[in-house]
Amino acid sequence: MIAVYPGSFDPITNGHIDIINRAAKKFDKVVVAILNNKDKNYLFSSQERLDIINEIFKSYDNIEVDSFDGLLVDYAKYIGADVVIRGLRAMTDFEYEMQMSMFNKKLMPELETMFLVTGDEFSFLSSSLVKEVASYGGDIKSFVPKVVVNRLKDKF
Ligand code: ADP
Repeated sequence: MIAVYPGSFDPITNGHIDIINRAAKKFDKVVVAILNNKDKNYLFSSQERLDIINEIFKSYDNIEVDSFDGLLVDYAKYIGADVVIRGLRAMTDFEYEMQMSMFNKKLMPELETMFLVTGDEFSFLSSSLVKEVASYGGDIKSFVPKVVVNRLKDKF
């Protein structure tokens, strides 16, 4: 079975990486799909996010990295994905994730969304907080991999 893990990953954090590693143990292939929404302002371009995630998972055979725009269901159909993976942190993620998964189910009933609950050490972690802390020169090395620490240093 092929799973697609969509997200902004702006930038990828240790919380995302934990979800990807756990999903890769359960599915034949996991495609990390970087969303490029033209109405959103990203700190890292789609190419930069692609390069960073490729660097992290380059030695994993069943983890692929790609980027997409438009509807997730169209992209999932295009790559032949059976399942969408999303990570759940606190209750605050729940309402939005539930709405998205129901919407996607209407658009493509055979595509299942499966949720992995975050490792508790990552439950407080978000890309936006990492960016904020990094912008003030705070220490983020326990939240993101080294390649992201370096890329953030270049940005700020
Ligand atoms: P999006 O803009 O699609 O929410 P994100 O890159 O913020 O993109 O998140 C992608 C997915 O990863 C979402 O399902 C989100 O809930 C999940 N996620 C984000 N941070 C964490 C974390 N610390 N632990 C587990 N899952 C997470």
